[in-house]
Amino acid sequence: MPNPNAPAAPLLPSPDDVIAAARLLSALVHHTPTLTSRSLDEETGARFFFKCENLQRTGAFKFRGACNAVHHLTPGQRAAGVITFSSGNHAQAIALACGMQDIPATIVMPSDAPAGKLQATRGYGAQVVLYDRYADDREHITRALMAQHGQTFIPPYDHPHIIAGQGTAAAELFGDVGQLDALFVPVGGGGLIAGSALATRALSADCRVYGAEPATGDDARRSLHTGQIVHIEPPRTIADGAQTQHVGRHPFAIIQREVTDILAVTDQELIDCMRFFAQRMKLLVEPTGCLGLAAALGMQGALRGQRIGVIISGGNVDLERFSALVSQGTPLNE
Ligand SMILES: *Cc1c(COP(=O)(O)O)cnc(C)c1O
Repeated sequence: MPNPNAPAAPLLPSPDDVIAAARLLSALVHHTPTLTSRSLDEETGARFFFKCENLQRTGAFKFRGACNAVHHLTPGQRAAGVITFSSGNHAQAIALACGMQDIPATIVMPSDAPAGKLQATRGYGAQVVLYDRYADDREHITRALMAQHGQTFIPPYDHPHIIAGQGTAAAELFGDVGQLDALFVPVGGGGLIAGSALATRALSADCRVYGAEPATGDDARRSLHTGQIVHIEPPRTIADGAQTQHVGRHPFAIIQREVTDILAVTDQELIDCMRFFAQRMKLLVEPTGCLGLAAALGMQGALRGQRIGVIISGGNVDLERFSALVSQGTPLNE
């Protein structure tokens, strides 16, 4: 939703903002593990380092951006509370980030959102306002609530503090394993990759940064290649965290400057990676969280002999859906 107070030109975060956010967040977020797979390294001839944000609080990296954005609120803004709309990981992230600091949070969610997500969001102490996704306009509902109660809107990706917060996962990764040759990052609205690219410039300046998005919704790739933000219809893909219709203005300005390329991945490749993570690494990863590895495997030959970082962005997928998806998979040299 366009923020009425947004400046005309994006005010971009810097690599230093990511480093500052990492210092701030070290007391609030999990320093997630970086895992490796000897068998994958042997098969590919590369060295892979997986940053496991599926093990982050709330099950995804979005808790990082939410904590950073909430931290920067003024006392008046804290008292009036925060509002956002999301059916995905941003909702729980804002709910918990606010709940930890006793800031009232209102989350506008579709009435047909999975029961588990509604329950988790309420469980973190947020007030959930339901809307009918076929009949109502969530932006109108959000605006009306803001006019009434004066909450601050925190968007999921198009915001400097969100971008800087998301970049702290990559900052931890470089801190733990040192410099890398390439980093692979899922792309939805672009907050995670923009922050990751800033962290890369600060901590491993020569590392190439690749984005990964669903082949059916390759708007970020087309945006990067044409130099204009491309808008698309909601893409059909199992990667529900990357079903965004366009990248944000702030992320795009950073993507244009810092990102080497954006690669497209099929749903079948995502399913094969879900199976790989579960069977070989004992990790439960949601479809969107598999984008980075799937993209890296797609350009495998070019990665021989290199040190490769992959951000596993989240692990929120219910078990019924997970088992239905992995049963469609083809064995990955198992
Ligand atoms: C939100 C999300 C993404 C995409 O992040 P953006 O900052 O919107 O690009 C990727 N993976 C998961 C698990 C997410 O929740």
